[in-house]
Amino acid sequence: MASVKEVGVGDFVLMDKIDLDHFMENLELRFRHGFIYTYIGEVCISVNPYKNMNIYDQQHVEKYKGRELFENPPHVFAIADASHKVMKQQRKDTCIVISGESGSGKTEASKIIMKYIAAVTNQGKLPPLDGTDRTKGKHEIERVKNILIQSNAILEAFGNAKTNRNDNSSRFGKYMDIHFDFKGDPIGGHISNYLLEKSRVTAQQAGERNFHSFYQLLSGAGDDLLKRLRITRDSNQYFYVKQGNAAKVDTINDRNDFRNVTTSLNTLQFSKEDQDTLWKVVAAILHLGNVEFNINEEKLEVTRSQSVDNVAELLQVQKGELETALSERVIAARGDIMRKEHTESEATYGRDAFAKAIYERLFNWIVQKINAAIAVDASNFQKNYKSSLIGVLDIYGFEIFDNNSFEQFCINYCNEKLQQLFIDLVLKQEQEEYRSEGIEWTNIDYFNNQIICDLVEAPHQGVMAIMDDACKMTAEKVTDEMLLEAMDKKLKGHKHYMSRQTKQSEKSLRHKIDFRITHYAGDVTYCIIGFLDKNKDTLFQDFKRLLYNSKDANLKAMWPEGAQHITQITKRPPTAGTLFKTSMLELVKTLTNKQPHYVRCIKPNEIKSPSSFDYERVKHQVSYLGLIENVRVRRAGFAYRQRYDKFLKRYKMISQFTWPNFRSGSNSEAIKVLMKDVGLDNDVKYGITKIFIRSPKTLFALENSRNQLI
Ligand code: ADP
Ligand code: MG
Repeated sequence: MASVKEVGVGDFVLMDKIDLDHFMENLELRFRHGFIYTYIGEVCISVNPYKNMNIYDQQHVEKYKGRELFENPPHVFAIADASHKVMKQQRKDTCIVISGESGSGKTEASKIIMKYIAAVTNQGKLPPLDGTDRTKGKHEIERVKNILIQSNAILEAFGNAKTNRNDNSSRFGKYMDIHFDFKGDPIGGHISNYLLEKSRVTAQQAGERNFHSFYQLLSGAGDDLLKRLRITRDSNQYFYVKQGNAAKVDTINDRNDFRNVTTSLNTLQFSKEDQDTLWKVVAAILHLGNVEFNINEEKLEVTRSQSVDNVAELLQVQKGELETALSERVIAARGDIMRKEHTESEATYGRDAFAKAIYERLFNWIVQKINAAIAVDASNFQKNYKSSLIGVLDIYGFEIFDNNSFEQFCINYCNEKLQQLFIDLVLKQEQEEYRSEGIEWTNIDYFNNQIICDLVEAPHQGVMAIMDDACKMTAEKVTDEMLLEAMDKKLKGHKHYMSRQTKQSEKSLRHKIDFRITHYAGDVTYCIIGFLDKNKDTLFQDFKRLLYNSKDANLKAMWPEGAQHITQITKRPPTAGTLFKTSMLELVKTLTNKQPHYVRCIKPNEIKSPSSFDYERVKHQVSYLGLIENVRVRRAGFAYRQRYDKFLKRYKMISQFTWPNFRSGSNSEAIKVLMKDVGLDNDVKYGITKIFIRSPKTLFALENSRNQLI
């Protein structure tokens, strides 16, 4: 076994000196030796290894099962176990929050956690079904576990895509509750999904792809299915999937993935009709992207009639109605109903909005169906029985692209909220612990990003509110440029906001186009073009009606609001920004009510390499994640703390006064005698239920004495 000097310490709290340099040295040392996990107390830092690690097998599961964090080398299994233990023993809801930037390993961590939970629950051979409650229950638990795991393949197919950062980037946020019975076995779950990046359905940057589902269908479907869907295998035939020019990805096998998704769909009991709807919508979108418009003698024409035909056939709507919906819209003006023909750009906008909307609805429908399959069956329980749960959050990480738009704005706002939560929970909890244990402590300074949250979400004065105001104006002529002007006016002087207007000398910002927000994780320049449209998220009523009238029962059910007549619509639907903000506030509330565990993921390099440790890139992440502050707060003078009973159990053997048993008296009295006996008494403080140790050296000394005896 290599020494601590060679491989670094497993908990940053045990470092001799706490500063960025030492932190980095320890992290790099561990990464280079293949130790990708390191703790800060109970927070797990994970560095993406970009290679398969042999540390997730059954042997490792057994090693971590039911153990304490410090008993084994750091591992995300230990975090999952801790979360499960608290939930089971204290009947408390817990959550595991996984954060980090795109490609840092969040989704993999969440899958590892799920698999661990599946592996440690309902263990043993399944009894044959003999109809008793006991055997039924055991089989039901297996069914739930199976769905929890298999749902990933489906959600990733429809919600993930290849980006320039990550070949399998989650383009939606996911929060999953797993409910457990009193024995700690999973009995159901619920998935909440957040803002799917639907703009990807109609446009991709160079080097990126549309959602995996499109390519899976094209590569994996049998000839029969292709024929029924009227598509060919060649993705270059379809405008909506070829813009990034990256259809083939080395690390992805679309054909196999299609097969896996089909298996998962069957497991989750998506009926044949359901699966039919699914792939028909995907194919319809492919055709829709090829519909074009032309102005002929001042009249709008829909060209590529065959594509329109195909869309109508697949969505099971009338071709004539589809054509009308693509080329004009019904508007209600002062009680009158009028038809208004689109300009060419309005028609293209309408077509794209239509494609994005049906994909988004489809995605939500999939999530609903998964939820129905794993809903906790209340009839299995006595009245008033309350299950406890573990929530796992895997949400898009902080993003800076070459071109940042409304989606990045929302994603980065979400990360601000999570950072705020981290500050609140981790720092607050520490403070509370010191207070409740009656230990003195001094405040540690850290950057509080509340000011940036306010910049985005404050009523009237925040970017979201200013955007909504602009969207509410009835004049059709409100432009993105005017929105930016309004923002400049209200946010001028804000420390974290800047545009060319507010700082003329900032030549890197384009006049009337860009604005910059100084996020906790760095500066991001957003291009305002498209913000208004994306926030308004208008889908002409004609399209909703069209889908409501579809002969496909699933599609019809996805579009209930299509039943409304244009004159009945009095309220403007909430904007995309407001919906997102509301869902974030709810998420934060949900997480606040649970005992949190944290996994903070770090991306070691930009080139997906298992051997490169890009010092500057990692340093940047360590800084903005506030990890140094985390260590400092955690230590606040104390490197280590432990409950008296557990501490005594571990170290009682090193003193003759406590081994095999303390004469008489409480655990804390025993420990006081023990610490005096081994001469380490002046480095500790005794709290109400825990012992606090100041220097890591004391802990090493204790561990050494123990090691000599075993
Ligand atoms: P994120 O969700 O943070 O954007 P992912 O979890 O999708 O990132 O990880 C990106 C890629 O990195 C994965 O597709 C995988 O190749 C690799 N990776 C991440 N974590 C691990 C791990 N623990 N072991 C092996 N490879 C990993
Ligand atoms: Mg992900």
